[in-house]
Amino acid sequence: MRGTNRMLLLLLAGLVCAIYSPLAGRADEQPAAAPLTRFEYQQVRMATPFRIALYAADEASANAAADEAFGRIKQLNDLFSDYDAESELSRLCRLSGPGKPVGVSPELFEILTRATSLSKQSNGAFDATIGPVVGLWRVARRKRQFPDPARLTEARSRVGYQLVRLDEQARTVELLHSGMRLDLGGIAKGYACDQALAVLKKHGIARAMVSGGGDIVGGDPPPDRTGWTIGIAALLQPDETPAQFISLKNAATSTSGDAYRFVVIDGKRYSHIVDPKTGIGITESCSVTVIAPDGTTSDALATAAAVLGPKAGLELIEKSAGCETLFVTLREGKPVAVRSKGFAGYETTGLRDR
Ligand code: AMP
Ligand code: MG
Repeated sequence: MRGTNRMLLLLLAGLVCAIYSPLAGRADEQPAAAPLTRFEYQQVRMATPFRIALYAADEASANAAADEAFGRIKQLNDLFSDYDAESELSRLCRLSGPGKPVGVSPELFEILTRATSLSKQSNGAFDATIGPVVGLWRVARRKRQFPDPARLTEARSRVGYQLVRLDEQARTVELLHSGMRLDLGGIAKGYACDQALAVLKKHGIARAMVSGGGDIVGGDPPPDRTGWTIGIAALLQPDETPAQFISLKNAATSTSGDAYRFVVIDGKRYSHIVDPKTGIGITESCSVTVIAPDGTTSDALATAAAVLGPKAGLELIEKSAGCETLFVTLREGKPVAVRSKGFAGYETTGLRDR
């Protein structure tokens, strides 16, 4: 979520792949309706290129809807960024502590409520209180040095989703340990895509898709198609044209893994995704794609599944309602894929899904 993180920006761009659709709706199917035209937009938000593709009757209404959707993403970044000392999240971490509940915006309350429930669902594999440990790993990536074990142990004592007390009536958040740092990096982009799609719907635009890095949310499909065709980046060549595709409508997908952000220390590769139980960046090279009913869920569960690994990660997704996964790991240098039972139902062959 840092504006200057150009590397991250470029790299996350590679996780989102081509979304193909024809230019106009088929008038013979809906003779009464005005033909719809496809419009596409891109803006960098949360240090990531966010894209909107939508179908609208005219350019003016398309532009107005897209402007407001991007405005919403910017507003959410201003609330949720852990890189910005002035964000509402940073302020909460500064002001709250044991016995000090702090009033927050509806958005921050909602995302923390969703984060907590996804932490419970994943038995703590997803944990937005991971901030103190992630901070040490950011330094480790810069210096290419393993974090000091004593500091890691101390940082871990300030991590735990159970240490966030949410009071729905008062809309307050209380951090039950001093020095806690919240990090919404594993959930905020999916939430922002959900919110942007909701803005487009409010403008009467239902045939739309919003993506932010590896997180993509699709509404109703393009006029003459059954879904939005989304490419899944390959584990070993994430920047090349994808060979695998899924087709989605009114659902979301997120891809997490160590393809881009990692550090190699003494020959071992540590990801930016950290196991909250150990405080160590995950070391198994993986690319986890999760399909879920909404982007908030797919984003958090993809991060959680990456922490859990292929076996427990697959179990988590199999028991999560409306969720599917394609989990790719490396075995002896070769990608090995496992799929949840219903994943194949979403797979398609690029352009040929009409
Ligand atoms: P994603 O790319 O969605 O998998 O999110 C990765 C980001 O989430 C990292 O850069 C951290 O900011 C944060 N993060 C790392 N490990 C975890 C974890 N176990 N639970 C929640 N967030 C995490
Ligand atoms: Mg995530």
